[in-house]
Amino acid sequence: MGRAPAAGLGAVPRAGTYAAAGRTNVAYLLHRAAVEAPDAPAVCEGADVLRDYRGLAERAAAIGGALLRAYGLRPGDRVALAMRNTPFYPEVLFGVWWAGLVAVPMNARLHPREFAQLVEDCGARVCVATGELTGPLGGQGLGPAVLVDVDELCGTAGRPGPPAGVADDAPAWLFYTSGTTGRPKGATLTHRNLRAATDSALADIGDGVEASMLHIAPMSHAGGLFGLAHVARARAQVFPRGGAVTADTLEEALRAFGPVTFFAVPTILRRLLDPALLPDGLVPRVHRILYGGAPMYREDLERVVARFGAGRLWQGYGQGESPGTITHLRPEDHAGDDPEALGRRLASVGRARTGVEVRVADPDGREVPAGTTGEVLVRGATVMSGYWNAPEATARTLRGGWLHTGDLGRLDADGFLTLVDRAKDLVISGGSNIYPREVEEVLLRHPAVAEAAVVGAPDPEWGELPVAFVVRADGGGTAGLEAALEAHCLGRMARYKRPRRFLFVAALPKNSYGKVLKTELRGLIGRPPEADNPRAGTAI
Ligand code: AMP
Repeated sequence: MGRAPAAGLGAVPRAGTYAAAGRTNVAYLLHRAAVEAPDAPAVCEGADVLRDYRGLAERAAAIGGALLRAYGLRPGDRVALAMRNTPFYPEVLFGVWWAGLVAVPMNARLHPREFAQLVEDCGARVCVATGELTGPLGGQGLGPAVLVDVDELCGTAGRPGPPAGVADDAPAWLFYTSGTTGRPKGATLTHRNLRAATDSALADIGDGVEASMLHIAPMSHAGGLFGLAHVARARAQVFPRGGAVTADTLEEALRAFGPVTFFAVPTILRRLLDPALLPDGLVPRVHRILYGGAPMYREDLERVVARFGAGRLWQGYGQGESPGTITHLRPEDHAGDDPEALGRRLASVGRARTGVEVRVADPDGREVPAGTTGEVLVRGATVMSGYWNAPEATARTLRGGWLHTGDLGRLDADGFLTLVDRAKDLVISGGSNIYPREVEEVLLRHPAVAEAAVVGAPDPEWGELPVAFVVRADGGGTAGLEAALEAHCLGRMARYKRPRRFLFVAALPKNSYGKVLKTELRGLIGRPPEADNPRAGTAI
């Protein structure tokens, strides 16, 4: 194997002895890759290899050292990251861990005021930002936190050395839940949690991690977490040139490093069905698509399977509190001879991941029989230690030693979990539960419907009534469509479930991770349909 191992990083323990050797720091994933495969490409942009594993580890060590020395941080201090995807991301993330600090990756599309709120909540003393965010963040002010331009930080020189020793349960990543409702909370993921999530990915994604990882989804969310397994296997992390995901940047990266694995939320996966963005000739350069993070409607999934083939698809269900690690739908689950059984599997999020227990429970926490809907509970080494500085929310969410996900679902006899909705999005009409997801699935089967979201509108008689927000497939007029959709629903669902109003909008409001903001839709009810939301749509 090429040149000598990276000088000065220290020895690597034998596989399986990391914790025993006190090497609990998640940065040891990178350390080991650097010692064992120093010349393997580690960070790439477009078709260019920017760093090999030796170089990446040395940069992480230097950045970690600079954070301690130049900014006076102590192990355990938080470092907020206001960074869009750039090849610097892995350097900074691992640099923070290398020094025993806590990373707080923030969604790069937040408003400056929202960044400031998170920085204040976690008490970060340093906020590292990519160029375009330093202006707005400087203008906003971040309290006592020092704003550091990533170019400056990554330009610092430093001595290589091994990662800092940390306690197994020391915080490593504060994952701010994407805040589709209420004030965001920081799910505290420990070094042990991140190692367990990585082990689980290695066990369950299998040969999906034996490829380069193309980062078309934000590193601050599942994309960054799944990337850890690729580091563990010394595979390249590839960033589309300039950070933009276009037909040209995709083609360049796929031709240079394909077949690649990538993570995509359903909205983006739907876009990748378009040959104008991803031509048919490039599909063989896709190794595995890890998708999830929001509901994948069956209608869309069937088209995705038809285009990419079952063998390329792997769905993960998780949440910041147990990131990307609750259940999975494996490639082989996406295919089968029995159309009915296949249909049921495609409507599910698969089975429990390696190392976690999943159960469905009633409001008192008692397990319910297969086929009965209840709240999804999770237990295992990937579950957060709690919310940052929020003991009451932690106690509520982790009561009885189980993570209460707030998702409603049911298990079948084979252990496949079907999510029916978020508990808080449930519509209760005249005492009957209406699961918006079920109504949305039906609406999407109408050819004129591109996207649909159903929420409950207050009603003096029924408590709530379902209202559907609909995006037209072809941008055509809406004359007669309401009656057609009502007839479509009446032919396919119980009468009480049918939407009582249809509001046609140009796009649905979504957060930058692609989740529909139902709180915002509830706020729009009562306003005229032209109250289209200009913030709608997800950019990668
Ligand atoms: P976040 O913590 O921001 O990642 O949001 C997690 C929530 O997204 C979960 O609690 C689910 O409601 C939803 N979610 C995540 N993955 C899936 C999936 N594969 N299918 C359906 N919903 C999902």
